[in-house]
Amino acid sequence: MATIQSVLGPISTDQLGVTLTHEHVLCASAGIQQVFPEYVNRPQVIEDGVAALATAKAEGLGAFVDLTPMDLGRDIRLLEEVSRRSGVHLIACTGIWRDIPRVFWGESPDTVARLFIREIEEGIEGTGIRAGIIKVANDQEGVTPEGEIILRAAARAQKATGVPISTHSWAPGRVGEQQVRIFREEGVDLDRVCIGHSNDTTDTDYLLGLLRQGVWVGLDRNPGGTMPGTPDWEGRTVTTKKLMDAGYTHRIMVSHDAPITILIAPPEQRALRKERNPDGISFIFRRVIPRLKELGATEADIHRLFVENPRRYFEGGE
Ligand SMILES: [Zn+2]
Repeated sequence: MATIQSVLGPISTDQLGVTLTHEHVLCASAGIQQVFPEYVNRPQVIEDGVAALATAKAEGLGAFVDLTPMDLGRDIRLLEEVSRRSGVHLIACTGIWRDIPRVFWGESPDTVARLFIREIEEGIEGTGIRAGIIKVANDQEGVTPEGEIILRAAARAQKATGVPISTHSWAPGRVGEQQVRIFREEGVDLDRVCIGHSNDTTDTDYLLGLLRQGVWVGLDRNPGGTMPGTPDWEGRTVTTKKLMDAGYTHRIMVSHDAPITILIAPPEQRALRKERNPDGISFIFRRVIPRLKELGATEADIHRLFVENPRRYFEGGE
């Protein structure tokens, strides 16, 4: 048991319960609410967030890890309100997503790490609400020079604070391997790292290779399928079961990455997402878990995936 920071203050890891480890209440852009407030219907975003989390809570959800850093439009007071009104523990993040601010492109990792460490140890934007996890992102282009600065900053902040790192990666391009290489160079304990979006591929050789290196693997895109060349949810679920059968039930985490409000996708794509997944962040409870059980997963396996693994990931130290 350990103490971690939720947006409503410290909680013990045994309070987390069933945890979705890669989600978003709102995806937007840094500063957009300040300069173009009418673009973001903030009261509606809050209502939709509360409704989705309360619904998922009634189906068993205990905690929601919101991996929205500043460049993805993090609104820390909004997350606080959604958590308070829904009754679901919410863990917020520091770090940087794919819109790396230009000011950091030539910056030293140590300087960027100072921001991450402050958000973890003191709080975000003067609120005193502390980040419980570090988010980083590298996509189809792999680890770019500016992306590498952010990865190294995240590694140093991880070592300074002990909180875990969760990545966005492009699994079809094996970008998780590039991320692991940088974390290794920085001397990060790979038990504190989750390579996310790994179920955008069904290549179990790649996934087992990551697991053998000692990282957690995030099978955290469900139903997914909006990116060309990525598997549908059934293919993803079969891949999850294959990793379980290979002996890694204790090292994988399953989540949706289905933002409750997404302003970074064009309106047609938002409609398509809703059509493809009317269940939102209840999709795993309604579709994936029953399917895993059909494939032979036991109640103990499910408990391990959604309760024990997130708890151990946040606690650190096997
Ligand atoms: Zn995400």
